[in-house]
Amino acid sequence: VVVFQATTTLPPALASPATAPPPSVIDQIRELADATAGRFRTDDAATALASTDFGRNVSAAAARPAAVFYPSTPADIAALLRASSSSASPFPVSARGRGHSTRGQAAAPGGVVIDMASLGRGGDGERSERLAVSACGRYIDAGGEQLWVDVLHAALAHGLTPSSWTDYLHLTVGGTLSNAGISGQAFRHGPQITNVLELDVITGTGEMVMCSKEENGDLFEAVLGGLGQFGIITRARIPLAPAPARARWVRLLYAGAAALTADQERLIAGSGAVAGIMDYVEGSVVTDFQGLIGSWRSQPPSSDADAARVAELAKEAGGVLYCLEGAVYYGGAADTSAADVDKGLDVMLRELRYARGFAFVQDVSYVEFLDRVHAGELKLRAAGLWHVPHPWLNLFLPRSRILDFAAGVFHGVLLRDGAAGAATGPVLVYPMNRRRWDAAMSAVFPDGGDGDGDGEVFYTVAILRSAVAAGDLGRMEAQNAEVTRFCEGAGIPCTQYLASYATQEEWAARHFGPGRWDTFVQRKRKYDPKAILSRGQRIFSYPL
Ligand code: FAD
Repeated sequence: VVVFQATTTLPPALASPATAPPPSVIDQIRELADATAGRFRTDDAATALASTDFGRNVSAAAARPAAVFYPSTPADIAALLRASSSSASPFPVSARGRGHSTRGQAAAPGGVVIDMASLGRGGDGERSERLAVSACGRYIDAGGEQLWVDVLHAALAHGLTPSSWTDYLHLTVGGTLSNAGISGQAFRHGPQITNVLELDVITGTGEMVMCSKEENGDLFEAVLGGLGQFGIITRARIPLAPAPARARWVRLLYAGAAALTADQERLIAGSGAVAGIMDYVEGSVVTDFQGLIGSWRSQPPSSDADAARVAELAKEAGGVLYCLEGAVYYGGAADTSAADVDKGLDVMLRELRYARGFAFVQDVSYVEFLDRVHAGELKLRAAGLWHVPHPWLNLFLPRSRILDFAAGVFHGVLLRDGAAGAATGPVLVYPMNRRRWDAAMSAVFPDGGDGDGDGEVFYTVAILRSAVAAGDLGRMEAQNAEVTRFCEGAGIPCTQYLASYATQEEWAARHFGPGRWDTFVQRKRKYDPKAILSRGQRIFSYPL
């Protein structure tokens, strides 16, 4: 059923036509509405929702689309993209997963935002088709709009599971595959983008293409980590492995960054006494004054007595502690028993250099472990702290400079304002193995070996802050800028993950660098020559 609602008030971008106006987006989609089974909305409620995201820190007026499109099928999306790309005045189109971006990346200013979730809203039959497990093929075909938490449950029904995750599962398959999709399993399995067998993609010209490493490999590699620039993912085939049933969830406290990172690197190494024991390795910076907003992601289980001991340790360490967070999976279809796990954990707890007496081990179900951040989300929602601005900063850093970064940022920039300044959100720090990434894909990660001890490992640092009080947002943005300046001043090369830059020059020079930028532009010309897709990333404009 085609429902078309025209607004009486047009968004600012469309409200004042020049003398010989090109056909407006509204005129163009009016025709399209008759030709697809999808539904357009141009009313304020729909366009306002599509102009904001989890970050809540970009101007909604500037990001506002002319319309929101609710496709019923991938063919509807193809029709929309064909209409725009063949028009004399092509309009921007962006897929919106769930809008968990933090800097307007899923916006389509003056154009059309595709509400991807509507693809999965058909009847039961249609929904299950968009999450189809092949138990003998050991893969799941997931619609690009599907949430990873639903992928998990569909796979578990067959005793199977994907191997690479994000820490938060209520993100879409298409959204995380457009970035990289990282968490504590990436050291072993690589980011989510290297855990894909095949994709269905609709390019910027509206062509529907099946691609994989072997078939249409250039498009496959372009789209993975491609920031939505080359096509819209409507299906991803994700490999599956036997699913464990439970996880031993370990938190170890450290008084310094050097001991933490040395132990993390031992855990993710290919050989050594503790290598391979953990299935998941992350870490975080813990301050003694972070409260709920700082610890919602992962709160160590601690009694009041433990909390007092931790506070004392933090005081001795100058207000900053580090937490190594890990998990070992077992049971279910995985080939390990609780006894095997405990043997490995005993070795690990003997070997690692955490502050003795500060090891916390919890036993939880595999699902509880993977979906733990959602539990934190519910707490924040209940406290009215979820829908606040999130001026997040995510960085990839070379291994050789992580301790310089810790000294300058964790013990410097982020602490400068004292308790009031630091009590603002979790700060993650963990290493990954470069060889698990694929440089042919669009995602940018640090180059290996600069002759300074880097080689195989690089770090991610995620400063995941919430601006809760008046003045927080400005202060945090200023601190983010200070972190960048500190890195520049100290000669620490850092790459933004979930990057945001204001100009194409910055994207080219600061994010991609010459060789990668050339490839990115060539692919853009090939797959989205009218620069329609994901304009909210602010990389390209029309004409290219
Ligand atoms: P959106 O934000 O809606 O879209 C992201 C970009 O991808 C946009 O440019 C959009 O146009 C494009 N896009 C969306 N769908 C498609 C599609 N089907 N095809 C092509 N392009 C598309 N990331 C991690 O890697 N690891 C984490 O642990 C992690 N934890 C997070 C925790 C929270 C609480 C939040 C809010 C985010 C987290 N993220 C994490 C970041 C996450 O990967 C990004 O927010 C990502 O954008 C996914 O969100 P989304 O699915 O809502 O996509």
